This record gives sequence, structure tokens and C-alpha cells, in this order.
Amino acid sequence: MNIVYLDNNATTRVDPAVLETMLPYLDEWYGNPSSMHSFGGEVGRKIAAAREQTAQLLGADPEEIIFTGCGTESDSTAIWSALRSEPDKKHIVTSRVEHPAVKNLFEYLGKNGYRVTFVPVDGQGRLDLDFLSDSLGDDTALVSLMWANNETGVIFPFPEIVERVKEKGILLHSDAIQAAGKIPLNMSRDRVDMLSISGHKIHAPKGIGALYVRKGTRFSPFLIGGHQEGGRRGGTENTASIIGFGKACELAAARLESKDQDIAGFRDRLEQGLIAGVPRILINGDTENRLPNTSSISFEYIEGESILLMLDKHGICASSGSACTSGSLEPSHVLRAMGIPYTAAHGSIRFSLSHLSTREEIDFVLEKVPPVIKRLRSMSPFWAEHVSTCQSA
Ligand code: PLP
Repeated sequence: MNIVYLDNNATTRVDPAVLETMLPYLDEWYGNPSSMHSFGGEVGRKIAAAREQTAQLLGADPEEIIFTGCGTESDSTAIWSALRSEPDKKHIVTSRVEHPAVKNLFEYLGKNGYRVTFVPVDGQGRLDLDFLSDSLGDDTALVSLMWANNETGVIFPFPEIVERVKEKGILLHSDAIQAAGKIPLNMSRDRVDMLSISGHKIHAPKGIGALYVRKGTRFSPFLIGGHQEGGRRGGTENTASIIGFGKACELAAARLESKDQDIAGFRDRLEQGLIAGVPRILINGDTENRLPNTSSISFEYIEGESILLMLDKHGICASSGSACTSGSLEPSHVLRAMGIPYTAAHGSIRFSLSHLSTREEIDFVLEKVPPVIKRLRSMSPFWAEHVSTCQSA
């Protein structure tokens, strides 16, 4: 069976060119980049080149890039570093729709001596900027806000966020793990202090990430150990993955420049086709300010998991907007924060495309989804109740 992979916000396929770049560094070039001999030194030079490629994707300086073990480590490093550099400040700010990599750490900090503000979003997932401004005070150590949401693709307005946070001199971190490589980022324009990215969202392997730290930002390492990464992250480098990550950043930057791939066009074709073919569906999130590859769709009165299972039988891979909490399926905190009604949030599916997605794949999904929804609704008591209410109205 052919796989139609529309789950690229979960992870992406390693680009063949990335793999090819990596292989020699898993095999013949196994030297330690910290070694004095030229065999290790050659690996060190490749890491330096990867740092440049990564910096270029972000419009940053190579010295501002620290390689990490994943996006979650980048987020944790940034957050703990900010707290250590402002030890007397006990207030931290984030949004209600962050990825667990940030959300769960903020919740932990909230139980361990910090006052946490979770800035709300509106029904379209847009950040309440005035709430953000009003929450900032002399005691605020850090604001951490995601650049783009992993479930809905909604992009937060960074120029305004930067203005509001930096005018008060507060440290600003962004989890840009979903944004990097999908929309242009430029650290000389977008003046955040720290920014997290992750390899496996941009066709590099899993288990490699990077943290951008603006020059002059006080920094304290998360992994204290050897002198690697300029003393900012101990641990022998994951050489092949770093080199692959650099290549993936170079390729992503070239795709952003070239514009020959109309990912948003395919995404819109998918949405328009579903709207035409399926009654009672909603597109979640601000459709004006979204990542080009992401679509969160609610199919009312049925469960997302059932949809996923039936799509899986056709080889279609997507994600649902629910999470299993204490054995029961709960709509995700993102959809709840947006106030999406239960009947819709339960039936939410995220389709996330990549440059590898094709028109044929989209058309295949458009062929398979409507009968799946029809079948599930024919078995749903909530749908039956909805239909009978409509008929008696
Ligand atoms: N932040 C966001 C917005 C994400 O989408 C993800 C991964 O899904 C992460 C953080 C975690 O990244 P990693 O899997 O590299 O730890």
C-alpha cells in the first residue's frame, strides 16, 4: 500500500541529500571534532559549516547557534538559562497554546516558586496582545511564545510581540520549531533573544536541534560538561546529525527562496475539496496567518481517532486534535483554549503537508475522506440527534 504522508508537523522524511551528507560521518569520518589530530579536525570543519548553514536559515551569526539534542532541549535550555540570568524575578509568561515542550515546563515552574501567566488566544488562535502587555511587570523574568502553532499552524505576530516585550527589557524566547523552514525567519529583523528549532521538522533526522542565542544575551548552559559548543552545551557532538541538520537548513532556505512549490495551494485544494464534499466541517485557526502546510479541520459529531483509524486503512497518515488523558480522549489544550465546541474539537484532524506532497495525494485524500465521514456519522448518536434537531426546527 502506498503511504500518503500528511503528518509532517509530527515529523518529516529525511531528505536523501541530507542522508547522503551524513553517511560518511557515521562511517569513515568517525573522529571526535575536539581531537587535536586532523582526522577529527576535518569533522570539526564540517560542523562549523553546518553552523553557518543553520545560521543562514535564521539570518543569524554562526556564533549565535548552539546545537542541542532536540527541540525540547532547546526550549528547556532557553527557559532555564533565562531564569538563571534573572534569579530575583519570579514571574514568567507564555501562551495557552504552547507545545508540551514549553507548556509542561511552565506548569512545573508554576508549582516550584514561579508565578506563571498563560496569555489567552481568541477563537481563531490569535494571541491577546493587550493581555500580554498588561501582564508584563518589573518581576517578569521571561516571555516564551511559539512562533507558529503545531496544531493549527497559526503564526503569532512577532514584530508586535518583540516591540511590546523588548520595550520593557524582558528576555524573549520563541519556540520556532514549526515555523523554521516553512516561513522566512530573520534574527536581525525579528529581535527575539533566543529561538528554538528542531531537525526532524525540516527533513533532518530526529534527535538534533539548535538554539539561537542573540549575541550579548546572558547565557547559562543546561548541560554542564565539556567545552563543546563554546562551553554552552557539554557532550560530544552528534556529528553526523549536526552535519545533516546543516544540509537540511540549506535545502529549506533554498526552498523558501525558490517559491516553485505551492504547498499552500495544495493545502487550500484539500480544504476547499473537503468543504465542498462534507457537510458540517470547520477550519480551525486564523486562515490569514497560518503556516502554508498546516490544516486543522473539525468534522462535527464524530471522533478524530475513528477518522484516523479509517484513513489509516487507506494508507493516509494524519493526526487528531485529541490527547489521551487518564484513559479518556480529551480535545487538545490548543482547541480548548480557542473555545472550539466539544462536538467539533473531538472530531479534529490535522493534515500537515511538505514539499514532498503531491496533487495526486491530495486528490486521493479528497476521494477517501467523504465516505469515511459519512460512514462514521451514520453510526454516531450525536450526528443522529443533530439531524433530527435540524429536521424538527
Ligand atoms: N515545539 C513544537 C512547536 C513542536 O511542534 C515540537 C515537536 O512536535 C517540539 C517543540 C518538540 O521538538 P522535538 O521533538 O525536537 O523535541
